[in-house]
Amino acid sequence: MVNCYCGSGLPFENCCQPYINGILKAPTAEALMRSRYTAFATGAADYLVETTHSSTRKFHKKADILDWSQSNQWIKLEVLASTATTVKFKAYYLDYQLNAQIHEEHSSFIFENGSWFYVDGIY
Ligand SMILES: [Zn+2]
Repeated sequence: MVNCYCGSGLPFENCCQPYINGILKAPTAEALMRSRYTAFATGAADYLVETTHSSTRKFHKKADILDWSQSNQWIKLEVLASTATTVKFKAYYLDYQLNAQIHEEHSSFIFENGSWFYVDGIY
């Protein structure tokens, strides 16, 4: 069993995988955020597009998402704070030149038609 990429300590198949496979829906904004980090770590670009809200989806091209997810090596996720609709986190990764980088973001989410969506983030 592989520990989930999001750092929950749970097995991947009992954590983010069912969300990414579309078997379950992420029940909270934080669960969606964690699964989106895992989607970056596993190159699941379709999931990243599908879970971006329709109002901001046009700013996120699938090819760019895939390129960004695959050109970096995702090390770990640290959730700093979360509310019902926001998550503040740090994502640690190595860029394509193997330089250690930290992406820090305060993301906003919306619950619509029974699903959580990523709206946008402040870096
Ligand atoms: Zn997970």
